[in-house]
Amino acid sequence: NYSLKQLQQIDASHHLHPFTDHRELREAGSRIITRAEGPYIYDSEGHEILDGMAGLWCVNVGYGRDELAEAAYKQMKELPYYNSFFKCSTPTPVLLAKRLAELAPKGVNQVFFGSSGSEANDTALRLVRHYWALEGKPEKNRIISRKNAYHGSTVAGTSLGGMEPMHKQLGGAVPNIVHVMMPYSYELALPGESDHEFGLRAAKAIEDAILEAGPENVAAFIGEPIMGAGGVKIPPMSYWPEVQRICRKYDVLLMLDEVITGYGRTGEWFAAQSFGIEPDTITTAKALTSGYQPLSALLVGDRIASTLIEKGGEFYHGYTYSGHPVACAVALANLDIIEREGLVERVKTDTGPYFAQALRERIADHRLVGEVRSFGLMGAIEIVKDKATRERFEGDGRAAVVVRDHAIANGLMLRATGDTMILSPPLIWTRDTIDLACERIVKALDLAEKDLFG
Ligand code: PLP
Repeated sequence: NYSLKQLQQIDASHHLHPFTDHRELREAGSRIITRAEGPYIYDSEGHEILDGMAGLWCVNVGYGRDELAEAAYKQMKELPYYNSFFKCSTPTPVLLAKRLAELAPKGVNQVFFGSSGSEANDTALRLVRHYWALEGKPEKNRIISRKNAYHGSTVAGTSLGGMEPMHKQLGGAVPNIVHVMMPYSYELALPGESDHEFGLRAAKAIEDAILEAGPENVAAFIGEPIMGAGGVKIPPMSYWPEVQRICRKYDVLLMLDEVITGYGRTGEWFAAQSFGIEPDTITTAKALTSGYQPLSALLVGDRIASTLIEKGGEFYHGYTYSGHPVACAVALANLDIIEREGLVERVKTDTGPYFAQALRERIADHRLVGEVRSFGLMGAIEIVKDKATRERFEGDGRAAVVVRDHAIANGLMLRATGDTMILSPPLIWTRDTIDLACERIVKALDLAEKDLFG
């Protein structure tokens, strides 16, 4: 048994963490989470923390689900691994692919498995470029994405994403990917511009990029229905239908990255259904297994799939763990839970609207808060120095970190990205859990206000 201090020392000496400043980690010591149950996580010191982030946007059915552990155990005993290469298969990915095709929006019937969202986006990028080559248009290979988008950390994921610090460290992005404005009205809407108008203008930026490149050179547009890591940027309802219209007009494929929004977070199985669109590809991961196993599924629309199948020959692409039988068994059991407990419907009709109202009525008026917004169980709180002018505090994101640290110390895990606080709780949250989270947010904001204004 190791003490907390020992674990922290070993961690700092040997373990390189994702998205972490290691010098800061050394100074502060890592928080070691040792167990979790329902909506709570517990650290090595026994602190109980309400998990407002569902891990990393993934533990949608909450922690401690015996059913998922049992599904994994049963599958491991029966067949822990076999691959899906070279015309082999195992039962669970077959059954999961069928299940996903049934849940997916119209015209999406094929599934390619991987282990992470990044892998699924790599697959999607390769697949759409391959598609146009098979259609005799190899020059149609440019992808349009958005500034501040997050599509993963592999080379292709980083390149598809629009985060400049990530591009800089990569040193050389995958070519032929361009980034246009994001649909973020709080900062980008013009004076007097309605939400509806702003949505259309943000979509027009995509049309402009298509025309600049020449439609004959543009393969696809990719976007998160609601930008997640970029700060829960919720587009106006006018945005996505207009994006789809533009894509169809210029014969540009529509790729949705639903790694966060997939499997209920927006109150539908997929956000494509919330926004009324029919994409050509949908990238999913995270909540597919509620994070109990690493698994991603790229859902592929009929247009691409039929070309791949009819004209494609061998697709030179795949991962050792594509269609991993244990991960797929856990995904099937996870979907059973989501269905049986009606979690998607609950977000749509009960907890989602209650969450929106709670943020509006209890958080929005706070002196530090510039805006609250949410969609389903995905929410954001903008931290500002001056509510009226929307002026931010000095030092990008410093103030949000102060709020976040007070929230965690007061029993609520949430995330700060830039000046934005993010919430993405497990879908098992009830109205009472939302009330508790709001109490803790208000407390954190009050304490941060004292720190920031003295
Ligand atoms: N796409 C989006 C929208 C994400 O939020 C993430 C991860 O947070 C990814 C892709 C990458 O997924 P993974 O971390 O599983 O590779």
